[in-house]
Amino acid sequence: MSENEILKIENKEDTAKSKMQERRTFGLPDAIIILLAAILAVGAFIYFKQIRQEGTTVIVAKNNFEMYRIDLKTVDEPYDLIVDKEHNIVIHVESDGVSVISSDCKDKTCVNTGKISYDGEAIVCLPNACTVYIDSDKSANVDAVLR
Ligand SMILES: [Zn+2]
Repeated sequence: MSENEILKIENKEDTAKSKMQERRTFGLPDAIIILLAAILAVGAFIYFKQIRQEGTTVIVAKNNFEMYRIDLKTVDEPYDLIVDKEHNIVIHVESDGVSVISSDCKDKTCVNTGKISYDGEAIVCLPNACTVYIDSDKSANVDAVLR
């Protein structure tokens, strides 16, 4: 290693140290900016949550044929429902969402999807042609108007 290279390394260490010192001088404007950013982030989160309104109707369909329609607003206590005895498909219904907890399919994609709670979300079990999806009140109302 030449002397020049050693000097370069030392210089790098120096700049790293001075950068750390710069960070330590933490002024009031920085605190305000960080606080504002935090408030914005929380605000955006709440806004986003409100936009993504929780759906209220769970529809279970088999081969595109509607088997069950569950209004989550009427669910007080979580319960399990066997929607397909032949394939042992069991869904877990809660007031804030639904999940597939059992199925005889090999891939278990439906079970691994976990809980869905929002309008438009779906759990699909391709091997058993079973679909569980959330339909919000809004679209139900639109349907009613159209009919
Ligand atoms: Zn499946």
